[in-house]
Amino acid sequence: MAAPAGRALAGRGRRRQTGPVTGIVRASVRVEGVVQGVGFRPFVYSLATRLGLAGWVGNDVDGVFAEVEGAAACVKQFLGLLETQAPPLARVDRVTAAAMAPTGAAGFAIVASDHSGRRRALVSADSATCDDCLAELADPADRRFGYPFINCTNCGPRFTIVTGVPYDRPLTTMAPFTMCAQCEAEYHDPADRRFHAQPVCCPACGPRLRLLDTRHNEMAGNPLAEAARLLAEGRVVAIKGLGGYHLAVDAGSEAAASALRARKHREDKPFALMVAGLAAARELCEVDETGGSLLASARRPVVLLPRRPGAPVAGAVAPGNRQLGIMLPYTALHHLLLAEAGRPIVLTSGNVSDEPIAYTDDDALARLAGIADAFLTHDRAIHIRTDDSVVRPLRGRETLLRRSRGYAPEPLGLAARLPRPVLACGAELKNTFCLAVEDRAFVSHHIGDLENFETLRSFTDGIAHFRRLFDTEPEVVAYDLHPDYLSTKYALDLDGVDLAGVQHHHAHIASCLADNAEEGPVIGVAFDGTGLGADGTIWGGEFLLADLAGFERAGHLEPVPMPGGAAAIRQPWRMAAAYLDAADAGEVAAGLEVAGRNAGRWQDVVAMARRSINAPLTSSAGRLFDAVAALLGVRDTINYEGQAAIELEQLADPAERGAYRASIGPGAAGPGGGAGPLRVRGADLVRAAAEDLLAGAAPPVIAARFHRGVAAAIAEVCAALRERSGLGTVALSGGVFQNLLLLGQVVDLLEESGFRVLTHARVPPNDGGISLGQAVVAGARDRRDGR
Ligand SMILES: [Zn+2]
Ligand SMILES: [Zn+2]
Repeated sequence: MAAPAGRALAGRGRRRQTGPVTGIVRASVRVEGVVQGVGFRPFVYSLATRLGLAGWVGNDVDGVFAEVEGAAACVKQFLGLLETQAPPLARVDRVTAAAMAPTGAAGFAIVASDHSGRRRALVSADSATCDDCLAELADPADRRFGYPFINCTNCGPRFTIVTGVPYDRPLTTMAPFTMCAQCEAEYHDPADRRFHAQPVCCPACGPRLRLLDTRHNEMAGNPLAEAARLLAEGRVVAIKGLGGYHLAVDAGSEAAASALRARKHREDKPFALMVAGLAAARELCEVDETGGSLLASARRPVVLLPRRPGAPVAGAVAPGNRQLGIMLPYTALHHLLLAEAGRPIVLTSGNVSDEPIAYTDDDALARLAGIADAFLTHDRAIHIRTDDSVVRPLRGRETLLRRSRGYAPEPLGLAARLPRPVLACGAELKNTFCLAVEDRAFVSHHIGDLENFETLRSFTDGIAHFRRLFDTEPEVVAYDLHPDYLSTKYALDLDGVDLAGVQHHHAHIASCLADNAEEGPVIGVAFDGTGLGADGTIWGGEFLLADLAGFERAGHLEPVPMPGGAAAIRQPWRMAAAYLDAADAGEVAAGLEVAGRNAGRWQDVVAMARRSINAPLTSSAGRLFDAVAALLGVRDTINYEGQAAIELEQLADPAERGAYRASIGPGAAGPGGGAGPLRVRGADLVRAAAEDLLAGAAPPVIAARFHRGVAAAIAEVCAALRERSGLGTVALSGGVFQNLLLLGQVVDLLEESGFRVLTHARVPPNDGGISLGQAVVAGARDRRDGR
């Protein structure tokens, strides 16, 4: 966008300001985007100086502003280079320039920040230690040799330490640290890499590392070396990272990993690992080109990669999992610790069970007592709790499972402007919220499952923080229709705003549209665990004809009872019983091991399903996967959300080409007499799986045929809906599409039959993406209503 601005300036400059004698012009320049805290002013300073331009540059509430004066050609070149040579962490959204009268003043200066007015400047995400800093870290002659808090304008903490904007040191958690003379000199030297780097510090003036024992006494010796020694001994060490505390153990030690599991009360959910570098990652996992670039990116997410056979990782790290979640060090502290340890370590969130990760020192010392044998901590505060992000490579590109540290709070550009600022409150599990204004959506860091007071406080504090950071007063608040979600209760309790209820699966499809900067209409396939439907029943296997403003439910999985309600989610065998009963396969069920294993309660559960007592109907795709997982003996009960489906995916034989067939029929006629939504009979798939199992087919083959059957049913319904609607684009969303086996098959089938397919890239398909969808739905309704 710099080029048009430059052309406009040059044109006007020639007519109005450029004298034929001097050829000197002056321009006021505005740069918007992620341009604060990323070395943008020093960059402008050196660029202007290099081109012999006079003037000044400063930060204000909108971003960076400058005035430059000099030869017209140089000013034009300056405007072009602003965008193309911007510092690595900057993201330039817009450069605008206007001609003004030259003043004749000489010299170029960086001026003080202007804090007045409505803030629109963007805070950058945290970024991994850069190569220049790593070189200094390893250089015995450098004054920051081995200093765990080294950073510069190109790297280091940002979002997690920012308390307000504009981004200047007093508005970060570095405020209490007074710079020493040397750091101060670097900070003020425009030629220095640390010029105006707000978190700049050194061993003389910056944060200090300490290792505390269980009684919180400081331990003797080098904290890093001692922490590494404890890890090698099989101890659990709590480590203060960028966005919160982690718990670490030696990843190769079965005893240590098991002890950590027991103390955290975490039964099966895989732990993430940190390894020293790409070479170490390749010893544990198959790292393809995409995987390698994701691991090494400055965002440094946890990357899920296929585990190598015989990888030296304790079984308790990721039980029964073909994948490992690994990340590379993202702070100097991590680099130093991994070098000292000389081995991969488990680095999992510092919490008990499903609580939010501890991020304040007092909270960590209190809550992690009884889990950690020592605390590697420091005196730079974390302002906002931010979990590690989780990504996965898919067909050469990044897909997100959790969008948090390294990504938040970077805005996502929207295809259409929002008439009014929107706060979207998200769903219940994997909650994020979203503050959206004009053509930008700020999706929050991962808040977590809104099931307890601690998470709810993260949610409300986070919203208050985002409103300050982006100086936005929401006028519309979007929420999920489920009245029991804490996010919904929060929304309904707000005064002075317009409320916009958004159906859960419509929000999923809108999220996928926004993710692709599209507006629809599309055929939306929303497959997930649970979401309240527009008719008050529980949906989760939905085909919607949707645009951003509205939707029609055009098809769904045929509802089955969930015997025991929530108990059926925790105990997939109940869904096997309900589905076999729905398939009229009672005689088949009698011969199945799943019925035998649960013989004591099987008939009661079947009766519960038939009498519709405490057995709400659901069209959930997640429950269909659960039923088949239980049937195949994958598991009868789960310990974390989606576990049975994840393990069923891993069980499936990728070489199998067979597929079960689900019948698809028209539903009951709608109120106007027209055809009702199409109904996909999931029970057919369960029955076919049961019969195959009794006939002696291997569970991996059955799991594969089931996946392929679901994919075929999705493609068939989409083709039928294309006939009806004329729509040729399909959007896939919902947590079930985290299943890469299913996603790959569905995309292939749809593309083979000529569909354009939209999948997620910038936000997760799971409920972490719901808030973005809610926000764009609210905006589209505003536009529809002529606001
Ligand atoms: Zn750096
Ligand atoms: Zn210093």
